[in-house]
Amino acid sequence: MEKREELYRGKAKSVYKTDDADRLILVFRNDTSAFDGKRIEQLDRKGMVNNKFNAFIMQKLEAAGIPTQFDKLLGDNEVLVKKLDMIPVECVVRNYAAGSLVKRLGVEEGMKLNPYTFELFLKDDAKGDPFINDSHVVAFGWGTAEQLVRMKELSLKVNEVLSKLFDDAGLLLVDFKLEFGVFSDGSIVLGDEFSPDGCRLWDKETRKKMDKDRFRQGLGDVIEAYEEVAQRLGVPL
Ligand code: ADP
Ligand code: UDP
Repeated sequence: MEKREELYRGKAKSVYKTDDADRLILVFRNDTSAFDGKRIEQLDRKGMVNNKFNAFIMQKLEAAGIPTQFDKLLGDNEVLVKKLDMIPVECVVRNYAAGSLVKRLGVEEGMKLNPYTFELFLKDDAKGDPFINDSHVVAFGWGTAEQLVRMKELSLKVNEVLSKLFDDAGLLLVDFKLEFGVFSDGSIVLGDEFSPDGCRLWDKETRKKMDKDRFRQGLGDVIEAYEEVAQRLGVPL
């Protein structure tokens, strides 16, 4: 597999073309951003940890019947993935109240949501990733009603599989964000990444935050926490 020109440089990853029209290479960098890219810092080992964490999770999801972009790990910071036509919508599933939900509704952080909630946000940093609903997605042509049904179905299945996986490692899966895209055969496939950058994970006993909130809230030991989560799950780093 040959790496060709850079297609896109995001806040945390760079995307490269390959000699296969159906495959891309994602390079996980150490850049860590918060507040829609308004704050950016370099954290040692983050690219490597998130790349390997993501590969581990995507393979677990694939084994559970969820179609993912994952093809193969190419190195510490690089992964070969299916090239997707990304749908610019972030799907957020929550099991406990935190983050923007707490701000928006004034509920207490840590409140158990029964059942889970499913939310959509437009992926647009310049607009601050606004909260939207399914009628906006269809009306503005970001996705079809059928694609949305599939994205929700897959998001809830991911929640089922990963809530159990993290629970077995002594962690609460508080919430997470997923991005989907359309593959060349027209199917909806899970893209982007699943790592502690895009989810909230709390220790089950102490409720210690083990995810990107350590960076957002200046709690320190960000990568140390990511590494502890990886170690508890058995992710080979
Ligand atoms: P951002 O765009 O939010 O700054 P990243 O730094 O993670 O995010 O950049 C990665 C970019 O690659 C994102 O825009 C994401 O939507 C896109 N992407 C992720 N997975 C794939 C894929 N399998 N095919 C095509 N594009 C992808
Ligand atoms: N999230 C993300 N990217 C975003 C926005 C949110 O990965 O652009 C993740 C975030 O890490 C959390 C979940 O989605 O796990 C819900 O985030 P929330 O809406 O609470 O927003 P926040 O206050 O974290 O920006």
